[in-house]
Formats: sequence, C-alpha cells, structure tokens
Amino acid sequence: CNILAIETSCDETSVAIVQNGKHVLSNLVSSQIETHKAFGGVVPEVASRKHVETITLMIEQAVEQSGLTLDDISAVAVTEGPGLVGALLVGIMAAKSVAFALDKPLIGTHHIAGHIYANNLTANIVYPALALVVSGGHTELVLLEREGQFRLIGSTRDDAVGEAYDKVARALGFPYPGGPYVDRLAMEAESAVELPRAWLEPDSYDFSLSGLKSAVLNVVNQKKMRGEEPMIAEIARGFQESVVEVLVEKAIRAVRAYDVRQLLLCGGVAVNKGLRRTLTERCHHEGIELLIPPFEYCTDNAAMIGAAAYLKWKTGEFSDLRIKGDPSLSLEKWSTVSIG
Ligand code: ATP
Ligand code: MG
Ligand code: FE
Repeated sequence: CNILAIETSCDETSVAIVQNGKHVLSNLVSSQIETHKAFGGVVPEVASRKHVETITLMIEQAVEQSGLTLDDISAVAVTEGPGLVGALLVGIMAAKSVAFALDKPLIGTHHIAGHIYANNLTANIVYPALALVVSGGHTELVLLEREGQFRLIGSTRDDAVGEAYDKVARALGFPYPGGPYVDRLAMEAESAVELPRAWLEPDSYDFSLSGLKSAVLNVVNQKKMRGEEPMIAEIARGFQESVVEVLVEKAIRAVRAYDVRQLLLCGGVAVNKGLRRTLTERCHHEGIELLIPPFEYCTDNAAMIGAAAYLKWKTGEFSDLRIKGDPSLSLEKWSTVSIG
C-alpha cells in the first residue's frame, strides 16, 4: 500500500509517499515561516495562497523522489482538520483531484492523529498507549486503548503550549515563531525566575497556560517600569520549567492511572530540549517506555498524515469526494471502526 499524503493545515506545505504506514519513500516540506514572520504570526489568507503556489509541483516532486510512478499509488490521504479552513481546502482540493484522476480512494485524515502516529514511522507503538500532544494549537493527553482508537482524557482550557511559547517569546522580544528562542535561552540561563504552576484540580488531566503567560508578562512589564535588567534568560527558564514540570507530571500520572505500555510524545513542541530531557529522565527513572519522533516528524509534515491514514486504509474507511475542511474535526470521532 503506497499512500500519497498531503498536509496544508497551517503554514507548512508538505507532500509525502508512505508505504504501509511505515516506510517514508519521500517527504517534502516547504515552510512559509519567512513569509509570516513579517506579520508576527500566520496570516490565513497568505497561507492559503502560498499553498496554492507550491502544491502541484510538490506532488510531482514527491512522486518523483519516491522512485514510484502515479500508477503505484494506492490511496490519497489529506489533512481534513483541524487547521485553518482556507489552508486545509487547498490540500483537500489537490487530493481530491489526484484521487479522482487515478480512481483511487481518498482518506480524510486528522492532523493530531498524524502527530501521534508520527511515532509509528521510526518505532512501533504498543497498546494501550498514552500520547502527550504538544503543538501550536493543541495540548492534550490522548489514550489509545488499541490501534486507531483515540480517547481524550485531558486538554488545555485556554492557550496551547506552542501558542504560550510564541506569546512569551514576543514579550521577550523575539520574532515569530518564538518557541525555539525561549527554549535555547532557558537552557543557557543560570537561574530561574519563580513562576506559578497550573495544577488545576488534583484529579484533573487538563492544562491551563494563560495564568503562567500573564505572570511572565507581569514580570517583564514590572522590570521595564522600574528600569531594571530584563533578565530574559531567567524568565525564559522559569517559564519553561513551569510548563515542563506540569506536562511531565500529568503525563506520568496518566500513564500510571491508565496502566499503558508506552508514552508517546508528539507535536511541534516535542522538539523542545527541556521537555525532551526532563521527560526522558523521568520515564527512565520510572521505568516507562517513551517514544519521541525524530525532529523532522515532530513539526508539521505529510509523512505523519500517511502514517495515520494507513489506519483507515486497513479498515477500508474511505472519504467521500465531497469532504470539506473541518477546522474543528474531532479526534475521538475520527477513531477507526473496531476490528477483531
Ligand atoms: P497544531 O498541530 O496544533 O495544529 P501547528 O501544526 O501549528 O499546531 P506545530 O507545527 O506542530 O503546530 O508546532 C509549532 C509550534 O511549536 C509553534 O508554536 C512553535 O513556536 C513551537 N515550537 C517549535 N520549536 C519549539 C521549541 N524548541 N520549544 C517550544 N516550542 C517550540
Ligand atoms: Mg507550522
Ligand atoms: Fe501540527
């Protein structure tokens, strides 16, 4: 089974060919970050236009690089949601055209299922598993009792982790997307500014980041008003320590409560050095098996969409050519039908 996968949910245009949900024959990613930087964030209309400019050529190149021909393609997968609706539609229209022309099935795919199944590209997910999803738009704990079954056990009540990183980075004077700057600064800092931890109710697996973000902004503003040294490295480290501690502790508590066999880290923020390091150390200490995708499969890419789409290939759940982009597509509802 060779799946041609397309991802255009946000500001990366990506096309991949993935064999049996595992072997990446090609995976092209074109980032629009340089374009959006000037605006301080992703501008939806600009994102859609950029996808339109590159998608056709990228499909051709992905097929060429895979060493296959269009005749070898078994199905066409595309991110159906969540994401920016105009951006999603560009990928969906391209995917529909290819699927129709080749007379092959179309597989509308959930972007977060993709982030989770990125873990299956370079390792094997063992069930039951728990995914900690940390990205620009999501902060979630997802239980996978078996393959293709997604149950949301916790999520953010306000900002997503990546979003909070970007807002804090902006307050500290860094361009969009600021996550990597805050991460680097935090790792270099010699001490940390004391900042709150949002544990919420004792039994809750939800997250909240807006209080922490406001606390950071207060510290920055107070220092400015008093004309003091901004201490941006110490602030970055305090912020990162607070975020990482809560994410790691809640994930480990859920691993125990649901007695899963693996913890899967994923999403664009999974490249964060502080998070990777602390989670790896804690899992090692607790005897928990942890999977983290390589960097290229953490940030948005189409290979992960090909990996998730393979679930639907196996159950034969194909999409109608009438699908539209769904900005709030439900992950739980995207679960595959139970087999066996
Ligand atoms: P979603 O997957 O929820 O739809 P998205 O696809 O826009 O959102 P990703 O591309 O998965 O998000 O991740 C991008 C986010 O990751 C940005 O907010 C960016 O700042 C953040 N990020 C990237 N590198 C780091 C890092 N080293 N530390 C913290 N955050 C980071
Ligand atoms: Mg992105
Ligand atoms: Fe993403």
